[in-house]
Amino acid sequence: MNTIFSDAQTRLTDIFEHVQLSDDIRERLASPKLSLSVSIPIRMDDGGLRVFTGYRVQFDDTRGPTKGGVRFHPAVSLDEVTSLSFWMTIKCAVAGLPFGGAKGGVIVNPKELSNLELERLSRGYIRAIADIIGPKRDIPAPDVYTNATIMGWMADEYYQIMREQLPGVITGKPVHLGGSLGREAATGQGALYVLQQWALQHNLEPVKTTIALQGFGNAGYQFARLAQQAGYRIVALSDSKGAVHSEKGLDVDKIMLHKRTRRELKAMLYCDASVCEETDHTTITNEELLELDVDVLVLAALENQITAENANLIQARQIVEIANGPVNSQADAILATRGIPVLPDVLVNSGGVTVSYFEWVQNRAGYYWELDEVNTKLKIIMDREARNIFALAEEKNISLRTAAYIYGVQRIAGAISEKGTREYFQTKT
Ligand code: NAD
Repeated sequence: MNTIFSDAQTRLTDIFEHVQLSDDIRERLASPKLSLSVSIPIRMDDGGLRVFTGYRVQFDDTRGPTKGGVRFHPAVSLDEVTSLSFWMTIKCAVAGLPFGGAKGGVIVNPKELSNLELERLSRGYIRAIADIIGPKRDIPAPDVYTNATIMGWMADEYYQIMREQLPGVITGKPVHLGGSLGREAATGQGALYVLQQWALQHNLEPVKTTIALQGFGNAGYQFARLAQQAGYRIVALSDSKGAVHSEKGLDVDKIMLHKRTRRELKAMLYCDASVCEETDHTTITNEELLELDVDVLVLAALENQITAENANLIQARQIVEIANGPVNSQADAILATRGIPVLPDVLVNSGGVTVSYFEWVQNRAGYYWELDEVNTKLKIIMDREARNIFALAEEKNISLRTAAYIYGVQRIAGAISEKGTREYFQTKT
């Protein structure tokens, strides 16, 4: 059966064609180390009981404690969470962080819950997985439809279970509860650092470069805001309800303010208003946004947005993946033959986990950094890894994704082989 995970694994097959690695590595990265499926009973506001299904998958911990977000979404499945945990393993290695990869999720439409129900669910999820997480074991963080407030509840629940304050158990917490300055914007900021490196090498001048962005959420908004400040022209934005388009360029902050104002009126944690309620601009569909004639198409929503079905319709000159897995492997092949480079997720969105790592370091040291220090350290890592990956892709004439995977897998392979590989044992017997 063609699952998201089997598609994700085809990327590994590609890299084994380019680098010589022990078969042990192939075996180790073929399935997760631990998959936990839990039922979370929640007392709803009307007195009724609802049982939600949740997952936590720890894919590989060879390089350190596992790290990965928690997603609250109706489409969450074990297949999706497993794939995301695999990508986290590669991503942490690409960024050179001392972490393995994990991911979690709950099948729920959080917009249908009251804030109190959402808090009970967040705390219930942590009670259900408490035995397998911890600052030295597995460290959750926010993902789609979870945020700093939810991380604060989750951390607090863990402290109550463990009877001690262990802020390093969860990252992406509110700043007043031990979160790091710069974490909220980190994924978008990191993605912009990568795009800036790419622009430098390909003579893209920000003021002459148009961007269409799918997914105006946490990561997408921060990227759009910072890219606009850097001079890029954001001509289209979308969320789950639709898209807006203006060739002259959109005012990113004005659109976000509109969404936030509407949210505050409804006193909800989530935004019910949509970008397409902005009346000053042309409304288009999400499909139309993906097919716009722009310099850069940025994907910051969900996986499988560009597939064999629409890859031939893409007109953008380059694609930047902020979301995890938005371009599937069939689309990758089509885009490659059409000469459209894809700046891959495992590099582009690694700014989020990198500042999560900084948060974990600060929590464990009990000493907190200024914003400048966070961003300077983030830039050093993003610039270095982007330059390395761009150079490897050019040198070997391979895709940027394959180059990124080679980097990541070689680091994981190094750690695995230092624990002993079959070659070592075969030569000893
Ligand atoms: P989010 O929930 O804040 O935002 C997701 C946005 O996508 C929302 O605005 C939603 O309306 C929109 N959306 C959903 N379906 C859509 C569709 N079909 N078309 C257009 N828009 C759609 O989530 P986020 O944290 O910004 O995460 C977005 C992606 O980035 C995910 O793939 C996530 O795994 C990845 N990511 C996020 C971070 C982070 O730090 N937030 C880090 C690394 C990777």
